[in-house]
Amino acid sequence: MPGFERFGDLERKEVNDVLDSGVLMRYGFDGMRNGHWKAKELETELQNAFGVKHAQLVSSGTAAVSVALAAAGVGAGDEVIMPTFTFVASFEAILMLGAIPVLVDIDDSLTLDPKAVETAITAKTKAVMVVQMCGSMGDMTALKSICEAHDLLLVEDACQAIGGTYNGKSLGSIGDLGCFSFDFVKTITCGEGGAVITNNDAYYTNTDHFTDHGHDHDGTDRGAETHPFLGYNFRISELNAAVGLAQVRRLPEFLEVQKRNYTVLRNALSLIEGLTFRKVPSGGEESYAFLNFFLPDLETARQTTKEFKSNGIDVCFHYYDNNWHYVRKWQHLTEQKSLYPLSAEVKAGLAQLQHKTFEQSNHFIGRNISCLIKMSWTPEALENRATKMAQIVKSILG
Ligand SMILES: *Cc1c(COP(=O)(O)O)cnc(C)c1O
Repeated sequence: MPGFERFGDLERKEVNDVLDSGVLMRYGFDGMRNGHWKAKELETELQNAFGVKHAQLVSSGTAAVSVALAAAGVGAGDEVIMPTFTFVASFEAILMLGAIPVLVDIDDSLTLDPKAVETAITAKTKAVMVVQMCGSMGDMTALKSICEAHDLLLVEDACQAIGGTYNGKSLGSIGDLGCFSFDFVKTITCGEGGAVITNNDAYYTNTDHFTDHGHDHDGTDRGAETHPFLGYNFRISELNAAVGLAQVRRLPEFLEVQKRNYTVLRNALSLIEGLTFRKVPSGGEESYAFLNFFLPDLETARQTTKEFKSNGIDVCFHYYDNNWHYVRKWQHLTEQKSLYPLSAEVKAGLAQLQHKTFEQSNHFIGRNISCLIKMSWTPEALENRATKMAQIVKSILG
């Protein structure tokens, strides 16, 4: 997945444009910037790459999720439905707004189970946040129809699925708002950065103002801009945007390499009895950032992970035992370890987590192994890896 694996002259050229002018900020200083507007240009490239009307750059993927929710009016006391399997950023972004993360089970797509979403809807539910984990996606048709029936916002966290599609549409462009991360380990990187994409004009205007202190960006002298509403600073710097500009132009190349490498590993594992692959909803095409498969039970999954490690097969994760991505290890959330007081509503919402066992999520995450697809593998290294992985799994399942 990581764009940093292919990093060089193109990125350097864009960054040097910014260093030559010395204007590191995306707004203002028109006369000094030698005509360079890297953040603006990157937003245009993102609109084209993902087929959306609007793109707003932000300082991170976590910021993108907070900004997307805020732009659509989600705030204090509102419930946002999210999956048990994601990155900690998902609930952080919800809590930032004083809203309540409501965790629900995933299914064999490793994303939100539509039935679990429906069961979790209450009078306080405002939004459903589908996290397009590990390069694939949820059942967007089912999720969209649930959201329409209950008048809920659908937000896509597509941070890990940049370039994946569903019925021909880019992931991130299907819900009301979509979020990307361009942090150091994502498919395209800015160092740190992210984006919110949407086809909704009003949401876009809100993201534009909100991420820059609520300034209205009305084209007058910057110092004279007014504030239609409260905002914060979630801006990206011009330097980070310059890196992203070079990277987004290489996205087709990155996706091609990912798909090629993914296919070699998948083919090597495809005829092993007892091993099954993650479900990709029909009409979906993965970004091929990860290869995900299931073993028969928790025990064989643990054993396989251990054998992979001791045989030099790196970047394969058993998320059941991982501290970052699965509810089982999120004690700081379930025990409400906040530096500052949480509202009574948030506390009551989080307290629910103490009573939930998420058996269905355990059933899938306990058996899942998720292998990151690197772009820097040589054909020989890849063949070698594929052969070793297949041998190990066969010997464990044999
Ligand atoms: C990386 C990631 C984020 C957060 O992005 P940052 O840019 O690191 O803040 C959010 N959600 C998911 C699923 C991610 O993988």
